[in-house]
Amino acid sequence: MGAPGSGKGTQAQRLVTKLGIPQISTGDILRQHRKDGTELGKRADAIMAAGKLVDDATMLDIIRDRVAQPDAQRGFILDGFPRTQAQAEGLATLMRDLGTPIDAVVLFEVGADELVRRISGRRTCSLCNKVFNIYSAPPASPATDCVEGSSEHQLFQRKDDQEGTVKERLRVYEENTRPVLSYYSDAGLLRTVSAVGSLEEITQRLRAALAGGESAAASSPAKSARRAATRKRAARRKPAAVRARARKPVRRKPAAAAANKGARKSAKSAAAKRRVPRKPAKRAAKRKTRAPRRKSKR
Ligand code: AMP
Repeated sequence: MGAPGSGKGTQAQRLVTKLGIPQISTGDILRQHRKDGTELGKRADAIMAAGKLVDDATMLDIIRDRVAQPDAQRGFILDGFPRTQAQAEGLATLMRDLGTPIDAVVLFEVGADELVRRISGRRTCSLCNKVFNIYSAPPASPATDCVEGSSEHQLFQRKDDQEGTVKERLRVYEENTRPVLSYYSDAGLLRTVSAVGSLEEITQRLRAALAGGESAAASSPAKSARRAATRKRAARRKPAAVRARARKPVRRKPAAAAANKGARKSAKSAAAKRRVPRKPAKRAAKRKTRAPRRKSKR
C-alpha cells in the first residue's frame, strides 16, 4: 500500500523475480481491459482518467478471478489493492474462504514533493509493462530486459499521471485508502517501509520488513506502540494457556498410568509416593523407632 508514486509497482516487480510469485496489480488489470476494449475497460476508462476509484464489487470480482489462476497458488503480491475499507473486508473474507492468510501488508512511505517528482517522471513500456522513471530510474539503452526481439523500451506516460489527475488521485488516497492502514495495523499485519533511496536500498528494507526485521523499516512511534500492545496481549494470553495444558496431565498422570498398567503394585507405590509429602513427621518418627530393632536382629 502507499500513495500513487510511492513505488509499490516497481518494488512488487522486483519481488516477483526474487520470490517467484506473481504481482497482481489492479491498475494493470484495468489498463489491460481498457486496451482490449472490454465492457469493463470502457466503464473504467473515464473513472481512471478522472483519478477516481472503480467500484468495490467490480474490484473484488477481479481479485477473486485472478487469485484463482494456477500461477497464484503458491502466493501472490497484491499491488494497488485494497484501496478502500470495503475492499479490505472483502479481501479478508475471500482469503478466509480460500484458507490463504495475508502474511503482511507493506506501506511505502514517501513525502508529498517526492511523490509529485516521481509521478511526473514515470514512464511505462508498452511492450513489457516495466515501469521506469526518466529522472531516477531510466531504462538501459539498448534494453536487455524487454520482450524478445525488442532492443528498446517503448515508453509512454500514463494519462492519469498528468498533473490535474495526480492531485485528485492523491486526494482520493488520503480520503479512501489511508484509513484502511489502521485496519491492518490493528490486525498486526502492517509493516512500514521508508520508500526513499535507491531502488536496491528500498528492496532491502522491503525484504527485511517481510522477514519480520522491522528495525530496517521506518515506523512511527504510534504504530510501534500499537504493535507492542498487540504483542503484549498475545504474550499475556499464552502463558495462561500453557499453564492450563500443563496442569491437567500432572494431576491425571499417576492414576491414568496405573489404570493402564492394571498393576496394583504400581498403584500402591504411586499412592505411597503421593502420601510421602503429607506425613513427613510420622515417617521420620517410624524410621527412628525401627532402626534400633533392625540393628539388634543382626
Ligand atoms: P494504479 O496503477 O494502481 O495507480 O491504478 C490506476 C487507477 O486504476 C486508479 O487511479 C483507479 O482509478 C483504478 N484502480 C486501481 N486499483 C483500484 C482499486 N483497488 N480500487 C479502485 N480503483 C482502482
